[in-house]
Amino acid sequence: VTQSINSIVVVGGGTAGWLTAGLLVAKLDKAGSRRFEVSVIEPKGIPPIGVGEGTWPTMRLTLRQIGVSEREFLKQTGASFKQGTKFKNWRTGKGDHYYHPFDAPKTNGDMPPVAAWKASGSKLSFAQFVGIQEDLCEAQKSPKRHTSREYAGLTNYGYHFEADGMAKFLKDHCQANLGVRLIADHMIGLQCLEDGSVKAVETQEHGYVKGDFFVDCTGFQSLLIKQHFKATTIPLSETFSCDRALVARIPYNETSKIESVTLSTAQEAGWIWDVSLAKRLGVGYVHSSAHTTAERAKEVLSHYIAEKGYDPETLSLRELKFTAGYVDRCWHKNCVGIGLSSGFIEPLEASSIMLTETAARELVEDISASNIDLQSVAAGFNERFKNRWQQVVHFLKLHYIMSSREEPFWVNHRFPKTIPADLQKDFLGWQKSGVIDDFADKEGFQKSLFPMDSYKFVFHALTEGHDSQIGQGGEPIASQAERHLKLLPTNQEWLSHLSGTINVE
Ligand SMILES: Cc1cc2nc3c(=O)[nH]c(=O)nc-3n(C[C@H](O)[C@H](O)[C@H](O)COP(=O)(O)OP(=O)(O)OC[C@H]3O[C@@H](n4cnc5c(N)ncnc54)[C@H](O)[C@@H]3O)c2cc1C
Repeated sequence: VTQSINSIVVVGGGTAGWLTAGLLVAKLDKAGSRRFEVSVIEPKGIPPIGVGEGTWPTMRLTLRQIGVSEREFLKQTGASFKQGTKFKNWRTGKGDHYYHPFDAPKTNGDMPPVAAWKASGSKLSFAQFVGIQEDLCEAQKSPKRHTSREYAGLTNYGYHFEADGMAKFLKDHCQANLGVRLIADHMIGLQCLEDGSVKAVETQEHGYVKGDFFVDCTGFQSLLIKQHFKATTIPLSETFSCDRALVARIPYNETSKIESVTLSTAQEAGWIWDVSLAKRLGVGYVHSSAHTTAERAKEVLSHYIAEKGYDPETLSLRELKFTAGYVDRCWHKNCVGIGLSSGFIEPLEASSIMLTETAARELVEDISASNIDLQSVAAGFNERFKNRWQQVVHFLKLHYIMSSREEPFWVNHRFPKTIPADLQKDFLGWQKSGVIDDFADKEGFQKSLFPMDSYKFVFHALTEGHDSQIGQGGEPIASQAERHLKLLPTNQEWLSHLSGTINVE
C-alpha cells in the first residue's frame, strides 16, 4: 500500500522536536516540489533536558540547513565552540590525559598517519603528531578568526550549548521563519485507525490534532513509541553501568577560561563532563548507582568544582536518572521516535543529538516521495538505526575497556561478559597487530557513524609509552600549530567580540 504524506505532527518540544521540525520544513521546502504542514505539540511546564551538551561538527550543517545564522545562534543561546574531547585520568587515574580532536589526522609524507607516527619514534602523542588541535585547545583557542565566514573555521568544530536554550531558540526560528505551527498543549491520548496507525493526537485543550505522520519527541517518556506501540527496549545496563548524572550550572568568575573541548575526567565510579559555554560552565558527574551512593557522588562533584576554584555550596545540584538502552524498532506504522524517546546510552562522546540529526535527515529523505510504502520504508529505517546504536555501543565501550583503573566500577566495565562479542574480537585483533587500519575493510564499517580516525585517536592514545607531552615541537605539524596559535583568538576573545561586551559575568 502506498500513501502520500502532507501533514506531520511532532509531539514534544525539546531539542529533538524542534530540530526535527526545522529539518523537515527546511529540507522539504528546498526540494521545492512539496510543502509539508508541520506542527509541534509542546506543553507548558515540562521543561526539556538541558545540562550543557556537546555536539558533533554535524551540527554546523544542520543549523545551516535550517537557515539559522551562526552568529545569531551563538549570541542568543550562549553557545561556545567544541573542537573535541580531552579525556583525563581515563587510563590510569594518575594524571594521564589524551585528546580525541575533530580534525582528521594529517601528516606531510605519503605514509598513513599511524605508520608515520610509529616509524618516527616520536615522543608526541598520536593526536599531537597528526594534528594541531591539541595545542590549540590547550591554549583555549577558537576554531575561527573574527573574520571567518559563518560555519567556517581553520579547524573542524561543533558546539557546546544547553539543550533547553537551543530548543527555545529553534522554536522561535521555526515559528517565525519556517511556518511551523506550535500547539501549546499536553498530549493526553491517541486516536488510531483500524490498521493500528495513528489518526490523531488527543490534547487537553485543542482536541484531536490530526496528521498523516507523527514523530515522537517526548524524551524519556516515549509516549508513542514505548508507551503506545510497546516498542521493545534493548537493555544495555550490563554493558554500561552509569545510570545517574548529578548536574550543576556554574557562573564564571574572573579567572574562568572558555575551554575549546569537552573535558571528561574519570572518577572512581564514573566520569565528570565539563562543558564551557559563553557565560557559564555545565558540569555533571555521570555515575553508576551500583558503585557509589548519592552522598558520595555529591562529594566527588563538589570536590571537582572546588578544585576548579568555584564554591560548590552556592550551587544547586540536580540529579537525572536514566537507563542505558535503545528501542529495537523506532518506527511503527506512521510514527517514528527521534531523540531520547528512542534511546540513550550515556553522554560519553556526545552521540545523542547527532543521532537525532541523522534520524531527522533520513526521515526527510524517506517521506518526501509522493507515494511511499510506509512498511518497507520503516523496515529500512529500523534496520539502519539498530545498526547505528550498535556502532555507538562499540565505540563507547572501547573507551572503558582500554582503561586500567582498578576501582570496581572500572574493573566491572572490563568483565568479558559486559563487552559485546564483536568489540571483543576486534579489540583482540588490534592489540595483537598494534594497529586498527584493517578495520576499514570490515563489512559495514565504511558507513559507521564514528570515523575510523576516531577509533585511532582513542586506541593509540592509550598505547603504552606515548603519553602526551606538551611543547615537544619539531615536526612540520608543530610549526603549523605555532602559526595557528598566533592567528586565532581565544574563545573568550571571539565570543566577547561577537557580543560586543565582556563575556564573563
Ligand atoms: C545527563 C545527560 C547528558 C547529556 N549530554 C549530551 C551531550 O553532551 N551531547 C548530546 O548530544 N546529547 C546529550 N544528552 C542528550 C540530549 O540532552 C538530548 O538528546 C536532547 O536534549 C534531546 O532531548 P529530547 O528532545 O529527546 O527530550 P527532552 O529534552 O526531554 O524533551 C522532551 C519533550 O517532550 C515533551 N513532552 C513531554 N510530555 C509531553 C506530553 N504529555 N505532551 C506533549 N509533549 C510532551 C516536552 O515538550 C519536553 O520538552 C544528554 C542527556 C543526559 C540525560
